[in-house]
Amino acid sequence: MVDIIQLLPDHVANQIAAGEVVQRPASLVKELLENAIDAKATSVNLVIKDAGKTLVQVIDNGIGMSVTDARFCFERHATSKIKAAEDLFNINTKGFRGEALASIAAIAHVELKTKRELDEIGTHIVIEGSKVDAQDAVVVPVGTSISVKNLFYNIPARRNFLKTNTVETRHVIDEFHRVALAHPQVAFSFINNGSTVFNLPASNMRQRIVNIFGAKTNEKLVPVSEETEIVSVEGFVVKPEFSKKGRGEQFFFVNNRFIKSPYLHHAINSAFEGLIKEGGQPGYFLFLQVDTTSIDINIHPTKTEIKFDDEHAIYAMLRASVKHSLGQFSIVPVLDFNKDPEMDTPYDFNTKNPVAPTIEVDRNFNPFEKEQRRRNDYATFKENSNSQLNSWEAMYVGLKSNENSLNLESIEFESEEVTGSFFESEEKTPSEITFQLQNKYIMSPIKSGIMVIHQNLAHQRVLYESILKNITVKEAISQQLLFPLRLNFTSQDIEVLKNIQEQLEHTGFGFSAFEKETIEINGIPVSVKESEIKNILECLVNDIRTDIPDVGFSQNDLLAKSLAKSLAVKTGKPMKVEEQEHLVHQLFACKEPTKSPNNKPVLMILDASDIDKKFN
Ligand code: ADP
Ligand code: MG
Repeated sequence: MVDIIQLLPDHVANQIAAGEVVQRPASLVKELLENAIDAKATSVNLVIKDAGKTLVQVIDNGIGMSVTDARFCFERHATSKIKAAEDLFNINTKGFRGEALASIAAIAHVELKTKRELDEIGTHIVIEGSKVDAQDAVVVPVGTSISVKNLFYNIPARRNFLKTNTVETRHVIDEFHRVALAHPQVAFSFINNGSTVFNLPASNMRQRIVNIFGAKTNEKLVPVSEETEIVSVEGFVVKPEFSKKGRGEQFFFVNNRFIKSPYLHHAINSAFEGLIKEGGQPGYFLFLQVDTTSIDINIHPTKTEIKFDDEHAIYAMLRASVKHSLGQFSIVPVLDFNKDPEMDTPYDFNTKNPVAPTIEVDRNFNPFEKEQRRRNDYATFKENSNSQLNSWEAMYVGLKSNENSLNLESIEFESEEVTGSFFESEEKTPSEITFQLQNKYIMSPIKSGIMVIHQNLAHQRVLYESILKNITVKEAISQQLLFPLRLNFTSQDIEVLKNIQEQLEHTGFGFSAFEKETIEINGIPVSVKESEIKNILECLVNDIRTDIPDVGFSQNDLLAKSLAKSLAVKTGKPMKVEEQEHLVHQLFACKEPTKSPNNKPVLMILDASDIDKKFN
């Protein structure tokens, strides 16, 4: 019998290896930036086009390569960084596997220009699909420039798997942040589709953070600095009151390499325990230095996970040093652990002008009319509930509690159409009486038993359909603000918001300016409170970033889901009977009342016959 095993040709092996190293344009950015750092560059420029799909170029002023090295660097396992297996246990460079360039050259069009200080003339190489197409001499400055064009040109399946430009650009920016933060002494610039996104001069750690995340960041940082025998920690944590919803700025670096570590993240979380409101996430920029022989970086091709010899000790040390810093900078004593700081003063002057309390009398009130009014006239209900709300609000001007972050107003986001056609046709007419169970479910008796409706999911469905309709029909009503609202975001968040500006405008937002780190809003959807806007937009940016969408991704859909989630009445919120009924009617005016926007069941019916069985 003939032997059947054979060695894979190099270009095939390289393509397979590429699958591990290069997942998306951001992977190119990471590998090329790291090579520039390893080449001791003091200035590194990153240029991308179309989120890196058509071009990722990195230009550095590092040591460059000789003619032979320039040719050789595209071979697999070709590296100048380690020579023997022992070296693996003492890594001081970013790269060492010698895989990146070989992988990249297998799946893109690559052009390299490089020159060393001692050489008269530089080298130019064009390589595509692992095949060298051209090699000649060029006149170039000292350093290296590598352009990677048309990523995955020969692997359509991978190309189709890439996300939208917004999402891919986000990943690129994340990688850029990680490398730029780890090397503040190196100058970086970043040009996206011809416009400069970052221009970071060589600086210290704090300045680098501020240059990336905006001038406002400076006051939010609390320094952390601690040294023990096994590890030293330097860096900053973000003051608890500035913690963000969703994962904000969270960076761990070990020996100047960005790493992901849920375990160490937990250490920080526990140091912040009791200081951050529920749902908030601590922000941190922490730089750990450990003995290179005490870690193993070689456990993952992208080298973002590492193994520590003594993880528990590092955990304890990290937690203690963060606690220490928070205490030292008297973050801790001013906060009462169990108290919402906003409860200290019922008058929240920052967000609202005080309104003199007034007693409102409902002049139309007629106790005998109640039954009749309840029956069907939801328009009247709407008016009444608003006036109730106003008088209620007048009593507690500005007093905010988490639970009240959403109120009646938002329930009326829907159109006036509240005909409960579902009930008429299906013979499941709800009685006039609904009630709430555990401030979470709306219980509505129907002929055959009782309907249990999840209030939050139901409201999400209502809002989702209405927002989606507004985006497509482009007719949302906007509430114009007398004084435009100026909100600070990072420049990356602003990029994301800019991308969906048009859709947001169709939901009722109005933007009067996009600046570097500020946006100015002059109109907001009618049902939304001014004070909630920041939170809503933050959640939205966060949702867009966590690339939930894959196939069939629709930005509108994501936007509608995210807004619906932010605006929907929360579980735990008591609802008046009228509010409950109103929501039920709105729900059944929806196209798909039984499913939440994320496809969870919104309601269930407990059949009387099933109840009967329990008594048999
Ligand atoms: P690794 O970084 O793991 O060694 P790479 O495939 O990324 O593997 O790079 C291969 C080799 O090419 C490096 O070891 C280095 O010698 C050389 N090289 C890559 N990029 C640069 C650069 N920007 N400047 C100088 N040399 C470089
Ligand atoms: Mg490398």
